[in-house]
Amino acid sequence: MVFELLKESYVILEQTLTLAISYFTNPGKRINLMYLASSMIIAYWVFRTTSVKSSFLKYLFPRKIWLSKSALIDYSMFGFNSLIKIIFIGPFVIFGFYLAFYANEFFLVSFGFPKYTLGMGQTLLLYTIALTVVNDLSSYIIHLGMHRIPILWEFHKIHHSATTLNPLTQYRIHPIELMINNIRSILVFGLITGLFDYLSAHQIDKMVFLGVNVFHFVFLLLGANLRHSHVKLKYPRFMEYLFISPFQHQIHHSDNPDHFNKNLGSKLAIWDWILGSLILSNAVGKIKFGIGTSNSNYDSFVNNLLNPFRNLVKPLLKSLKVTNYNDQ
Ligand SMILES: [Zn+2]
Ligand SMILES: [Zn+2]
Repeated sequence: MVFELLKESYVILEQTLTLAISYFTNPGKRINLMYLASSMIIAYWVFRTTSVKSSFLKYLFPRKIWLSKSALIDYSMFGFNSLIKIIFIGPFVIFGFYLAFYANEFFLVSFGFPKYTLGMGQTLLLYTIALTVVNDLSSYIIHLGMHRIPILWEFHKIHHSATTLNPLTQYRIHPIELMINNIRSILVFGLITGLFDYLSAHQIDKMVFLGVNVFHFVFLLLGANLRHSHVKLKYPRFMEYLFISPFQHQIHHSDNPDHFNKNLGSKLAIWDWILGSLILSNAVGKIKFGIGTSNSNYDSFVNNLLNPFRNLVKPLLKSLKVTNYNDQ
């Protein structure tokens, strides 16, 4: 019995380690070595435009950022979330494919065979655009909810409690947020894939398995890793109305209340622009990252993991105490 349990734990740990390492080799992941390298090249270009006197390596890898307490929490959270993915999320990814199948069936039953079927090229282009736009819009809506709904903010705060940014800060999210994000992406993938499977008379399954998403690839290649970094890459003013630049995401992490709930977009800035939550890079000077005064409560891995639950239970306990006191 004990032996079986040990064996099972060993298998899970081995899978977790393999998953964590695969983030650096999987071309679909942001921290793939290829994208880290392209981000370094772009960072060098930014470095050349600054007045920093030190060497490029010192500029890019300061100990006070990469070995800060905040960064160590990022690294632990990345490892822990890999474990959560293996146990709680991996087994459910298949639901995206089920959902695609049922969505396709639903369209067939509701509308019959489409009168016009999309060709291979049209499908590839429109499917990629639809997946990118719907993914981006749904991420924006979830992110807005995370900032506006107090219960969700307690969980999202973990991402914002980072006081230094490095590419792994992307994965400094509470496991509850990780699950919400994964449910969102499984739903979007399933529904959009089912729709295009219907519109293209089943050509889509061949493409889905190819995993082609040229827009995501370009986004990752063009310095996506600099979003969570100290490298202030800004886009030309007009472009920042359309695409969120790395510095615009850094503004999203600013501890200045003027910047709270701003620049919530992932790739596209248009949602922020439409809803009035967009800040352009040139409107902002020096920034500090974090959530301000309550940051000290988030200075350990365990606190980041447990604080959302503590903060949600606290008012409940308080109200119970008041009720008890009134009863006496
Ligand atoms: Zn946020
Ligand atoms: Zn972030």
